[in-house]
Amino acid sequence: MSTLARKAILSMAGNRLMTGLMTRHGLKLGASRFVAGVTLQDAVETARKLNEQGLAVTLDLLGEGVTTREDARTMAEGCAAILEAIHRERLDANLSVKPTQLGLAIGAEAAMENLTQLQDIAKRTGNFIRIDMEASDTVDATLDVVKRLYAREPNVGTVIQAYLYRSPKDLQELAELGMNVRLVKGAYLEPPSVAYPKKADTDEAFKRLIAQHLSAGCYTAVATHDEAIIAFTKRFVEEHAIPRHQFEFQMLYGIRTELQRQLAGEGYRTRVYVPFGTYWYPYFVRRLAERPANVWFVLANLMKP
Ligand code: FAD
Repeated sequence: MSTLARKAILSMAGNRLMTGLMTRHGLKLGASRFVAGVTLQDAVETARKLNEQGLAVTLDLLGEGVTTREDARTMAEGCAAILEAIHRERLDANLSVKPTQLGLAIGAEAAMENLTQLQDIAKRTGNFIRIDMEASDTVDATLDVVKRLYAREPNVGTVIQAYLYRSPKDLQELAELGMNVRLVKGAYLEPPSVAYPKKADTDEAFKRLIAQHLSAGCYTAVATHDEAIIAFTKRFVEEHAIPRHQFEFQMLYGIRTELQRQLAGEGYRTRVYVPFGTYWYPYFVRRLAERPANVWFVLANLMKP
């Protein structure tokens, strides 16, 4: 996809009017291909089916950019219910959260209050929380919160985005702590002053980060649908005798499902990111921006009577 087209689509993700409109109109436009449903029950059923296919899951209650303490609290309660449901239903699943969903835009302390409560539930239920990475202007605050949480209890990890120039240094600091990190290409609209504008440069940076974190002996979640990166990872772990319990592959719900099953069938730990909830629009727009064919898929859905 051209950079211009990607920028045009991604700019729709931050549009408040569109977000409100789309949220009220439910899982239309084909968003159900990428979102497991609206309720926790929908997500639990999807997770169970994926578990039955040998796939682990990370559940995500859709939400981001929260600006009031009340909304952040409501989101935290929703996330707490996910952790309790995973425990009760004995799912092979953990939780992914977005820092701005839990109050980071209000302040670090607001996010910490919600996250420490979730961390305590995760500790009691023997689970793990992945703190997603959002736009580049939130990276410093997110890493700060993650490090504070990790010092309380090492049952949290975060995400490093290959497109950011700063990432090798950030990853090194997390490796010094021994942190479990998910590596991704990066999904937000970033200027060339902070991120590689060219996909080929991001791909090479991604490979270097994978090698860096695996070589540091840290648990590495390689989150991609890119077969060349997956092949690189397979070769790297083989050549460097990295044990299979030190890494996993992760993919998004509804994307490359055959490849997900194939990797699990080959004995690689593979986890599917399963988002659910009513606030699906920004997540959906980011998925559209990743692949032009998805836009046609949406238009085809709009044409349907
Ligand atoms: P690409 O080169 O974009 O895609 C490779 C191939 O995968 C494409 O050719 C296509 O066949 C398929 N594909 C990729 N995307 C799509 C799509 N949307 N629809 C259909 N096919 C597609 N980003 C963040 O910034 N922060 C996060 O916290 C974060 N968490 C993530 C968690 C998981 C589990 C995954 C898988 C991704 C996450 N991302 C996150 C998104 C990531 O940054 C990329 O935007 C996304 O994964 C697409 O890049 P790719 O590595 O799959 O490679």
